[in-house]
Amino acid sequence: MRGTYLFPKDGQAFVSQAAPAVATLYMDMTTVAASTAAPRSLLDLTLAELEREFVASGLSPTHARTLWRALHADLAADLSAVPNFLPPLRRWLAAHLGDGRRFFIDAPEETADIASTDGLTRKFLFRLGDGQTIETVLMGFKGRHTACLSTQAGCAMGCVFCATGQMGFVRHLRPGEIVAQVRQAELALRAAGHDGLRNLVLMGMGEPLHNYDAVMTALEIITDRRGLNIGPGRITISTVGVVPGILRLAEEQRPYHLAVSLHGATEEERSALVPASRRWPLAELMAACRTYFAQTGRRIFFEWTLIAGANDSPAQAGRLAALLVGLDSHVNLIPLNSTGGFAGTATSNMAAKAFQKVLQAAGIPSTIRQRRGIDVAAGCGQLRADRSLE
Ligand code: SF4
Repeated sequence: MRGTYLFPKDGQAFVSQAAPAVATLYMDMTTVAASTAAPRSLLDLTLAELEREFVASGLSPTHARTLWRALHADLAADLSAVPNFLPPLRRWLAAHLGDGRRFFIDAPEETADIASTDGLTRKFLFRLGDGQTIETVLMGFKGRHTACLSTQAGCAMGCVFCATGQMGFVRHLRPGEIVAQVRQAELALRAAGHDGLRNLVLMGMGEPLHNYDAVMTALEIITDRRGLNIGPGRITISTVGVVPGILRLAEEQRPYHLAVSLHGATEEERSALVPASRRWPLAELMAACRTYFAQTGRRIFFEWTLIAGANDSPAQAGRLAALLVGLDSHVNLIPLNSTGGFAGTATSNMAAKAFQKVLQAAGIPSTIRQRRGIDVAAGCGQLRADRSLE
């Protein structure tokens, strides 16, 4: 069975021979645009767009900036209670915001907030306006917190070891639905008396570069200094290897970190784990990475899920090292986190260290990732909007 997917930049269909579970998504950006027509979420708008809305209403853009601060810096829950709003802004809100009006504000319902026994990881399950559910993970490290965001409900890419991939694609998230996850994570940290978020990784449910435009708009909003103010250098976009998206990031000189999931260093080994490799073969992917590096000078992070007996041998580490020659790279080695739908098991510590040693000998820096939040299925590859948690 074949699936037809549409890449949002050019609307061009790509065909994957992915597992049947992922072969049933069919959404183009026309559908997305139609579904997000009016009313719109205020969280979908960049500051420039918000200012244009106010100017179009005959008001000063200063009111837009006041509203922006309330939404994105103060994270006001109730705009009617913000004391410093001037009468014109209050009138604009009364006329434009609410049921049956032009705008609403994304307020995903938190249906679960589960703390891991590691004491540092929390997984949130959110129900979106149309009933879809997504997950966001908050991870504490020494003195800082990182949020792992979802960019789609489900995922089209079908990586065999990933619970999100096993559930298939549902839909793209709008910018406001991505921004709302950051707001919720910030609010959770403030409520617990912590400093704000320091880092973001787009490694939750979904493939960020399959939802390119919405993700870039969300990041423009999130990085705005007058709002959430999370610096672009603290944001990592993770991709399974969507080549047109990587090239677009380079061409547009986007200032974010890029992480590319490899998992295999030959076409055969990789496409057994990552069906999207049949659409964007390894050679094409590595050429795109080289173009990205040449155009941006940025180090690329490569993710490698270590699966016992599948891709964790020293010989495979040698092939990976050969693949990365000439690139400024860092390899993140991630021992497999189990999911119900995949029979593989995690590499032993000893095998992970042996793998890392080969990379080290080739001069390639690497990290063996700490396993986090496994008991609450918040680890890499485990997110799937588990409805049993609602
Ligand atoms: S690993 Fe990422 S890209 Fe692959 S199926 Fe899971 S969410 Fe999608």
